[in-house]
Amino acid sequence: MDISVVIPLYNEEESLPELHAWIKRVMDKNGLSYEVIFVNDGSTDHSWQVIEQLATQSEHVKGIKFRRNYGKSPALYCGFEKAQGDVVITMDADLQDSPDEIPELYRMITKDGYDLVSGYKKKRYDPLSKTLPTKLFNATARTVSGIKNLHDFNCGLKAYRREVVKNIEVYGEMHRYIPYLAKNAGFKKIGEKVVQHQARRYGTTKFGLNRFVNGYLDLISLWFLSKFGVKPMHIFGFLGSLMFVFGFIAVVFVGAHKLYAMYSGLPYTLVTDSPYFYLALTTMILGTQLFLAGFLGEMIARNAPERNNYQIEKEL
Ligand code: UDP
Ligand code: MG
Repeated sequence: MDISVVIPLYNEEESLPELHAWIKRVMDKNGLSYEVIFVNDGSTDHSWQVIEQLATQSEHVKGIKFRRNYGKSPALYCGFEKAQGDVVITMDADLQDSPDEIPELYRMITKDGYDLVSGYKKKRYDPLSKTLPTKLFNATARTVSGIKNLHDFNCGLKAYRREVVKNIEVYGEMHRYIPYLAKNAGFKKIGEKVVQHQARRYGTTKFGLNRFVNGYLDLISLWFLSKFGVKPMHIFGFLGSLMFVFGFIAVVFVGAHKLYAMYSGLPYTLVTDSPYFYLALTTMILGTQLFLAGFLGEMIARNAPERNNYQIEKEL
């Protein structure tokens, strides 16, 4: 099979028939074999009935129904598990992404050899409250991930070589950073294609402004995991040692200062009267705590089931 189209959806009943018809039109015109996997993320409207209806009309339609709403990332994860096509394309269900982009995305993966091609909504039809923070978000993501050529990390329309989706694990709300996940898994050829974008016609957006706060926190987590995920001691141990040594030197200094004053007949006070004593003490305690966090981190990392999960590309 050439293409699997994975569509996560949450309360998008109005858009589905039109979206399906449009995908079918594009695929038939280009002679591509395909499947459409609708992942119903616990919709409370009639989305699932619509999907069932579509499945009776066409053998290309497949569906997954979550018992409750988990989020876009879990929906993508399950869609990826099920996908069988050589190229996997994800798109939003709200008709904001155009299926007309599919043939070119497919060509870029199969002919140009890209591992992942992300859509870039250069001209967006979204409110300013969304487009402006998005610019900032993408600039940060570019810097942290080191994928310099992407302008639109969170675009729902993306194409992947099958190995990519089978070797990355999208979880939590990490769908915003799939290119970063792919890069961390060793897929280097990541490209971009400018795509058409439309205003939402039916329903409402499912993500509020808190997406930016959460997105930012997720980016920090990802950065941390990719740098120190399997060797937490390298960061905690380093910071801990630094602080401990710093505190220790300060304590010695405070003590020596007092002894010196005592034996030279200078006026002196209790060490506990000096603010430096408390600063030194706190630094030493914090240093020890960080060190302990490092040990605990190592014990957790040692138990992680994926600790020896390497990306082996070829073997002879
Ligand atoms: N979505 C989902 N589960 C959720 C929230 C959203 O599957 O919990 C789907 C939604 O139905 C849509 C896609 O994710 O197909 C993108 O959502 P939306 O269009 O609301 O995001 P925006 O375009 O505002 O970024
Ligand atoms: Mg949308």
